Amino acid sequence: MAVYLHEEDLPEGVLGPGAVAVDTETMGLVTPRDRLCLVQISDGSGDEHLVRFAAGSSFDAPKLKTVLADPAREKIYHFARFDLAAVENYLGVVAAPVFCTKIASKLVRTYTDRHGLKDLVREILGKEISKQQQSSDWGSSELNEAQREYAASDVRYLHALRDQLARRLEREGRSEIARACFDFLPARARLDLAGWPEHDIFSHTSA
Ligand code: MN
Repeated sequence: MAVYLHEEDLPEGVLGPGAVAVDTETMGLVTPRDRLCLVQISDGSGDEHLVRFAAGSSFDAPKLKTVLADPAREKIYHFARFDLAAVENYLGVVAAPVFCTKIASKLVRTYTDRHGLKDLVREILGKEISKQQQSSDWGSSELNEAQREYAASDVRYLHALRDQLARRLEREGRSEIARACFDFLPARARLDLAGWPEHDIFSHTSA
């Protein structure tokens, strides 16, 4: 199990087949303003690959884009909505089909309002992850050890979480509604980019 840092694209052949866990780090929460700095990706075998994009990057990453756009590979995220928007805005691909552990958690863990990745990893897998580096300078040309470990840990547990949450969705009879929500997420991300970030177009009241 190791963490690999790559510049500007994923090397050929580093991922096994099947679903991949995906996360992104950016300069902030306003996607068109705050550039994409890092894409983390894991095939669930224990290695994590970090692809760093430098300031002024052309985001010409054909190997990474091929994996992200592959309709045969499920992409597992925690809060897919944000990552889908960042990937579409900067890499120009729709990184679907989607499994979102945060949406799955909201649909089955109705006994709590704690749906952060740290909460899920602790309750479902009995492990601890640190969120200390969440707000750090991801635009730096040198990512320090703590940043690399944090970035890798954000994709490390997503396959295991998906397996457990899929079981709970099945148990509660909510797999179908979860799938419909996951399938809608690329459109939700596009609404964020198109100017409806906080506006709920399904709500009767909001203007
Ligand atoms: Mn992250």
